[in-house]
Amino acid sequence: MANKDYYNLLGVSKNASQDEIKKAFRSAARKHHPDVNKESGSAEKFKEINEAYQVLGDPQKRQHYDQFGSGGFDAGGAGGFSDFDVGGGFSDFNGFGDIFDMFFGGTRGRTTSHSGRQDGADLRYDIEITLEEAFLGVEKEIEITHLVACHICKGSGVKAGTTTSKCSSCNGAGQVRRTQRTPLGAFTQVSTCPTCHGTGTINSSPCHICSGSGRERSKHKIKIKMPQGIESGYRLRVGGAGDAGIKGGAPGDLYVFINVKTSPIFEREGADLYQKKNISFAQAALGSEVEVKTIDGKAILKIPQGTQTGSMFRFQEKGMHYVGSRRRGDFIVVVEVETPKALTNEQKELLKKFGELRKEL
Ligand SMILES: [Zn+2]
Ligand SMILES: [Zn+2]
Repeated sequence: MANKDYYNLLGVSKNASQDEIKKAFRSAARKHHPDVNKESGSAEKFKEINEAYQVLGDPQKRQHYDQFGSGGFDAGGAGGFSDFDVGGGFSDFNGFGDIFDMFFGGTRGRTTSHSGRQDGADLRYDIEITLEEAFLGVEKEIEITHLVACHICKGSGVKAGTTTSKCSSCNGAGQVRRTQRTPLGAFTQVSTCPTCHGTGTINSSPCHICSGSGRERSKHKIKIKMPQGIESGYRLRVGGAGDAGIKGGAPGDLYVFINVKTSPIFEREGADLYQKKNISFAQAALGSEVEVKTIDGKAILKIPQGTQTGSMFRFQEKGMHYVGSRRRGDFIVVVEVETPKALTNEQKELLKKFGELRKEL
C-alpha cells in the first residue's frame, strides 16, 4: 500500500495542533459523509478521512506516523526506505551479528485488544557514519533507552501476592458505548472505558516499581553491524528491541536510521565514487603520472598527453560495494587543468614563446 499523506487528506499542516486536526476532521467528515454527499467516490473519501483521523487524532499514533509513515500501520510499504533486518529476538543481547536478510514489509500493525493488551512502540535511533566506515561495513555499539517488562512484577503491574478485580464501570469489557444524536443521524461511539483504561480490570494494589504499568525504563547497549556499501536513507531493523508490549503484547522494533556523512574527498553516486583532481597545465599538455587517493588506498593515474580539463578516468570496481554483493561500483577521477595565475618573468617569456610557436604551426 502506498504511503498515504494523512495531513493532506485532512487538509492540515504537519505541525497542526490536535485541536486543529479534530476541527479539520469534523468539517471534512461533514462534507464527505455519504448520507450528505451523493457524489460518486464520497464514501471512499469518507473512509480515507476516517483512516487519517484514526492516526492523526491519536498523538501516539501520529508520532509513529510522522516517523515511519502510513506503512507503519499496515502490512504494506515501509515508506521509501530500504530496511534490513539485523537479527531477531532481543533476548540475545550480544547476538546481533550480521544482516540476516532484507526486510521488505512494513512494521507490524499496532494492536490493542479489549483485555488491554498492547504491542510495544517501535523506536528510532539516528546514527551518522563516515563514507570510509560505510565502505568497510563498520560495527557500532549504540545505547538505547527503552521500556522493558518490570523486573519485579514481570509485566503484570500487580504487587506480589495480590490480583486485579473486574472493572465495574464496563463490567470487564474495557469499552463503553455511547449513542449520540446529530443532524446526520445517530452515531454510536465505542470508546475505551475511562475507569479501567480498556483493561477491564482494576488494579487496586499496583506494583511499586512500575506503578502498575508493568514496564520500566532500561538502558541497553546494542551492536549494530552495517553492511558494506550502506547509504543514507537505509534503516536497520533490530527485531524486538523497541518498547516492551503491555499485558503480553509483542515488543516493538528498533529502527536504526543511517546517515552517511558527505566526504571532503569523494562525491558519491550510488556505488560510484567521484573525485576532482587538479593537475597543472604542463602535466596536462605533456602527460604525467599522478597519485590519487582511493577509498581503500592509493592509485596511480596516468594522464595522457593533451588531456583536457573535465576529462574523466575510470578505475573499474574501485568504488563502494553494492549492498549485499561483492561487486563494487567504479572510482572516477575528474581532471581539472589549472591555468597558472602567478607566473615568474621567466615562465612568462617561455609561454610567450610557446604562443608564438603555436601560431606558426
Ligand atoms: Zn512492576
Ligand atoms: Zn472498565
